[in-house]
Amino acid sequence: MAASGKLSTFRLPPLPTIREIIKLFRLQAVKQLSQNFLLDLRLTDKIVRKAGNLTDAYVYEVGPGPGGITRSILNANVAELLVVEKDTRFIPGLQMLSDAAPGKLRIVHGDVLTFKLEKAFPESLKRHWEDDPPNVHIIGNLPFSVSTPLIVKWLEHVSCRDGPFVYGRTPMTLTFQKEVAERLAATTGSKQRSRLSIMAQYLCHVEHVFTIPGRAFVPKPELQPEFRGRETLLVDVGVVRFTPLIQPRIEQPFKLVEKVVQNAFQFRRKYCYRGLGMLFPEAQRLESTERLLHLADVEPTLRPRQLSIAHFRSLCDIYRRMCDGDPQLFAYDFREELRQSKHKCRHEEDRGESGDL
Ligand code: SAM
Repeated sequence: MAASGKLSTFRLPPLPTIREIIKLFRLQAVKQLSQNFLLDLRLTDKIVRKAGNLTDAYVYEVGPGPGGITRSILNANVAELLVVEKDTRFIPGLQMLSDAAPGKLRIVHGDVLTFKLEKAFPESLKRHWEDDPPNVHIIGNLPFSVSTPLIVKWLEHVSCRDGPFVYGRTPMTLTFQKEVAERLAATTGSKQRSRLSIMAQYLCHVEHVFTIPGRAFVPKPELQPEFRGRETLLVDVGVVRFTPLIQPRIEQPFKLVEKVVQNAFQFRRKYCYRGLGMLFPEAQRLESTERLLHLADVEPTLRPRQLSIAHFRSLCDIYRRMCDGDPQLFAYDFREELRQSKHKCRHEEDRGESGDL
């Protein structure tokens, strides 16, 4: 504590602006890597404020690039900031930041999809799962093509309480294409309700905290392929905060929940029994689907987006019971059955044709 009685606060010394850093180190965005930079430090400060109180925190920033969010995190009085960046061109600029914040910034040249956070921070930070979240935070503005698979991977880690969650219920503040952010936070019945809504919300408290207009990025971000063909080409960015729940709202293995949810949303606009039926081999489809829905007490004519997490919980519990009674069932894949029956048809047609000769 300082003599005045006030807590000492760290501030970075005056530095070149992010725009100047980009010029100085020739950091033109690489389109193929979907690099879009945030140059406005008011916006990067806002992202960091939304992550919560970072005083004395250990923060893991994914994809720091030229370092806009990195600066805001360092100014939030953290104990340590660990950044993982794939593109070597950014390392010298980050090194400049590290020199300006001695002992606070650790730079790793690596890939967030494979980096192991579980040993990166002190053991003493670990909290019991039921306690308040640890003073460990994940923050990042990644390319859309990386942030979606990464959140699915991290959700699986939440369910196993491993990876970044060995410290406890580590909160994450991450950016997504706005439409994906809306899906992650979508409530039962809403148009955006999807597979991602269930997978995220059964494990975490999910908040779409604010939206950043696409024009704030240099260059402006582009639509992910699955959204192409829509009228608007403007892509805004949603900032989403995830806090793992003490008690998951579905208590079944991640892969089982993923399978039920994926099948349920197979035919988004049809009644839910259509997609859920694909969990079962064709020969028993009708009977098993009826049994699943009856025992789970789910109305077959609800649309997938009308299914609540409680509905999914009962569907997963009953499906688990059915899998326990039939060890082949979980491995069943309707696409494989379809492929095999197409192959059989073609084979029979060929035989028929050669018989005509
Ligand atoms: N955070 C910076 C900002 O907000 O201005 C940069 C954002 S840019 C959208 C994404 C950054 O993530 C780039 O610096 C890119 O090189 C980096 N990146 C992309 N894929 C990565 C990966 N798999 N592992 C680590 N960094 C990655």
